[in-house]
Amino acid sequence: MTDPNYKRVLLKLSGEVLMGEQAFGIDPGFVTELAREVKAAKETGLEICLVIGGGNIFRGMAGAAKGMDRAQADYMGMLATVMNALAMQNALEQLGVPTRVQSAIEMDKVCEPVIRRRAERHLEKGRVVIFAAGVGAPYFTTDSGAALRAAEMKCDALIKGTSVDGIYSADPKTDPSAVRYDTIDYDTVLAQNLKVMDASAVALCRDNKIPIVVFSIRERGNLARVLQGKGTQTIVGTPTVKVATAPKKKAVKAPKVEKTKAVKKPKAAKAAQA
Ligand code: UDP
Repeated sequence: MTDPNYKRVLLKLSGEVLMGEQAFGIDPGFVTELAREVKAAKETGLEICLVIGGGNIFRGMAGAAKGMDRAQADYMGMLATVMNALAMQNALEQLGVPTRVQSAIEMDKVCEPVIRRRAERHLEKGRVVIFAAGVGAPYFTTDSGAALRAAEMKCDALIKGTSVDGIYSADPKTDPSAVRYDTIDYDTVLAQNLKVMDASAVALCRDNKIPIVVFSIRERGNLARVLQGKGTQTIVGTPTVKVATAPKKKAVKAPKVEKTKAVKKPKAAKAAQA
């Protein structure tokens, strides 16, 4: 793999990684570990936007499955993401990393509302911006929130840190013939309904040509490796060759994706926002 030369990325962490080894909630020790990874990545000069899920606390679908009104349950899920964002802000700031939390549900006692231009300024000043409450509407997830913020903040990639080390042709826990893709294109992910992100999030990234990088955040030092184009990961992007079908029991050299290009921000635009 070559150096992808990212300048600005959106890092999406699913809520469950904040649990560490626990079955529920937030493990402050593990959140500090994650914050160290983010700090190390930032020290390479990257601008970092963060989106954290809420599945370690509450998911709307789970509430709805037990008879709750779906929209009501989703709002609870969004509030869970704000708690996780505050936990991550605390951990980062204890390590000396300046941050701001911006929530799609306004909560001015604890964080800022989402204001794109203000977020832009925070990034320019070297702050990590944590976007909470997804898109701020029910029937979505934080994957969609991550894709939306990655698009509006013009991120070079959406880096998704999960408990698995990439995208597989089937669930590797239950299907021994499952193979991991190195690269795959958006439409194959959608057509095969590969459970990596919501379809709406994948489609938003496709339409805005934002590569999605899926990797395991549980391995120490992996984020830094992935940001350098090394380490185990799957990159979802635009195909440059015909889509190949995955052979069984072999790593798949799936469709090549467009090389990620860093977007240089025009100086005039920067000055206007200052
Ligand atoms: N949620 C929502 N709209 C959003 C983002 C999140 O309704 O824009 C709710 C939804 O109920 C979701 C929950 O918040 O299940 C937690 O987010 P998510 O499931 O994406 O967390 P993750 O799986 O990444 O931990």
